[in-house]
Amino acid sequence: MALYDRISSIKGIGTQRAEKLAALGVETVRDMLYYFPTSVEDRRITKKVTDLVDGETTCITAIVGASPSVKRIRKGFSVYSVPLRDDTGVITAVFYNNPYVMNNFRVGSYYNFYGKIEHKFGKKQIITPIYEAYGVNNVTNNIVPIYRTGAQITQKVMVATIKKCIEEAGDSIEDFMPKSIIEHYNLCRADYAVRNIHFPTDYDAYESARNRLAFEELFLLQLALKIHKSSANKATVMPYENTDLEEITKKLPFTLTGAQNRVVGEIITDITSGTPMNRLVQGDVGSGKTAVALIAIYLTVKNGFQAAFMAPTSILARQHYEDLAPMLESLGYRTALLIGSMTKKEKTAVYEALSNGEIDLVIGTHALFQDNVTFQSLRLVVTDEQHRFGVRQRGALVSKGMNPHVLVMTATPIPRTLALIIYGDLDISVIDTLPPGRQKVDTFCIGENIRERMYNFIRKEVSENHKVYIVCPMVDENDELDLKSATSYRDNLANNIFPDLKVGLVHGKMKDSEKDAVMNDFAFGDTDILVSTTVIEVGVNVPEATLMIIENAERFGLSQLHQLRGRVGRGKDKSYCILLPSAMDEDIKKRMGIMTKTNDGFVISQTDLQLRGPGEFFGTRQHGLPPLKISSLLDMETLKKSSDAVTALLERDPTLKDEENALLKKRAESIYSHIDEYMV
Ligand code: ADP
Ligand code: MG
Repeated sequence: MALYDRISSIKGIGTQRAEKLAALGVETVRDMLYYFPTSVEDRRITKKVTDLVDGETTCITAIVGASPSVKRIRKGFSVYSVPLRDDTGVITAVFYNNPYVMNNFRVGSYYNFYGKIEHKFGKKQIITPIYEAYGVNNVTNNIVPIYRTGAQITQKVMVATIKKCIEEAGDSIEDFMPKSIIEHYNLCRADYAVRNIHFPTDYDAYESARNRLAFEELFLLQLALKIHKSSANKATVMPYENTDLEEITKKLPFTLTGAQNRVVGEIITDITSGTPMNRLVQGDVGSGKTAVALIAIYLTVKNGFQAAFMAPTSILARQHYEDLAPMLESLGYRTALLIGSMTKKEKTAVYEALSNGEIDLVIGTHALFQDNVTFQSLRLVVTDEQHRFGVRQRGALVSKGMNPHVLVMTATPIPRTLALIIYGDLDISVIDTLPPGRQKVDTFCIGENIRERMYNFIRKEVSENHKVYIVCPMVDENDELDLKSATSYRDNLANNIFPDLKVGLVHGKMKDSEKDAVMNDFAFGDTDILVSTTVIEVGVNVPEATLMIIENAERFGLSQLHQLRGRVGRGKDKSYCILLPSAMDEDIKKRMGIMTKTNDGFVISQTDLQLRGPGEFFGTRQHGLPPLKISSLLDMETLKKSSDAVTALLERDPTLKDEENALLKKRAESIYSHIDEYMV
């Protein structure tokens, strides 16, 4: 029997069952063997009837004493009883609405049962037990695998099917893992692992199987990504020749931190290498990613090419434009802003100037990757706050250049090994220190009972010419009800609580021009308090803002709270963040506690990731990965080990040409042919 034969080629597995298995993604014998149980259950203890305790779940071995009987309780509800005994006593197996049992038992034969014991009216019952003929031990009397099955396949059928596959094809399971790695990481062999993940001889065997298979899964994924990465990006581009930074660093109002300089160095290595840069810069809120982007942009325009800088909101795009454009303009470069709220005429002018090369840098929003935007020589694409964009959107802008350098920036740092997987096609830089003199934003979590005191605190801050953000209970920017509540929240503040102060409102449903006007009045005008939804989450810089209040704080993920909090503490004055959850339980308490205890974005995103899991954390837009069967992206230890193993392997044999690695190469290639499907 060959591993890659169709499952229906196994004797006893008909087309009907094969169809049901196909619904679970099982087509070949190998698929079936690699359809792992989600857990195993210890059903090794078999008790005598006389020893059974009310309420326990256990196995028994018993003989069927007489034919099953049925009692119709009411329409659609029948109880089937099978009288059983062993040499110590009698018990009844009870089934509900299961007419099959009438024919499934032979009087006088022994069976194993596994189920919950109930003592009722002095009689013993085992309720809807799993059963099988004595001696089979597939689902009783053993450590039993539990599978995620389709509605139409029972555990029992799954177990029998996999057992059959192992009998027929177990000996042909090939081990693609090189011997050296197996030995170095003390892994068990593939066929042992596959047998014992399903039918372990004991728990140690199960654990060792799990370890091996989890290692193998993460190992293969990383290997495939690395191969993929080294095969992509083979385009050659002209290296930048002039990398002198003196002129631009003089324009910056500060000196770069060591961490910024290191990342700049990595970028320079990329752009002078002759292949396109593909780099992710991770850095906490306020770590100074914009300055790093500016330098990449500067080098691009200085070398005679165009650059595009994409931000997720028009507010942020405008702010970047206002920060960066003057520096570049004063050096003789031409810049433009491109956002949705501009008039058609203004946009057309920018389109024209971009396509004939009159503009060196364009900063904008989604408006940048519309079809009518063309460049003369786009060589650098910077994406700020990349978590707000899909991979596809990034691609849309990149495709407007000829193999442009790509720089993406994110404020949700995640562990390196994980980043290498999630952002498989990117190299990673980390800005791991903040500019000097940053103060910690003091964070408090309060209850409704001191809302009045909080209002007083707002008043005090405003009286010192500071500004206050209030992030409002709005989860879904498209939800009318939520929108209403944000509006009425603002009106209540403006009319009843702070009638003497100016209270603004900004939300995602407003037109760009409206948003910009409100933000401008907050940043430069007399708005004291800005009620906002999460549109201010990213990037905005208002140094006078010293207080951030977050209503319904429990609705946000930790990373998001941290981003929001990052809007204050940007100037010289002491800043505060007040979290006001609308509910409280252990989980909320724990999450709020993390926010009040630490300002370290790295710690916060790690915890967030642990608490919410990768799917939620990254969101579907980001998550371009094949589903994992047995390993977890949160298993840092296995991630690290398998990542080291991949690195070492590729150092020894970069193209996997050695005989020892032949099978592995095949496996990795078959995975990466799928990765393309996920990485859209
Ligand atoms: P983020 O990484 O969140 O995008 P920004 O680039 O907006 O951070 O920088 C946050 C603030 O820190 C800005 O006001 C910026 O001018 C300032 N800044 C950046 N780099 C430095 C530095 N090396 N020294 C002092 N201030 C800096
Ligand atoms: Mg930023």
